[in-house]
Amino acid sequence: MVWDVSFTCDICGKKKGEANHWWMVMLGDVPCFDQGQPSHRFTLLPWNMAESRNPDIYHLCGQSCAMTAMERFMTHGSIESELAAHSRR
Ligand SMILES: [Zn+2]
Repeated sequence: MVWDVSFTCDICGKKKGEANHWWMVMLGDVPCFDQGQPSHRFTLLPWNMAESRNPDIYHLCGQSCAMTAMERFMTHGSIESELAAHSRR
């Protein structure tokens, strides 16, 4: 089987291989939230080939990166590190 698209973990930068158990994370809006509370929700999804090309989705290579992503999300409301967020824009 040939991978036509190569995916990279949005946390550690590892390349996706065939045998890896990858996950995807999507940030959505919270319909109601209190002042000062996070306005996004963190959704963890199993890897899905069709959705993996969605630009709004983050790719995670495994449990430890999923934990890191959630930690970042809970700390500053974003999955990308401060550095990555700056270099992307
Ligand atoms: Zn990773």
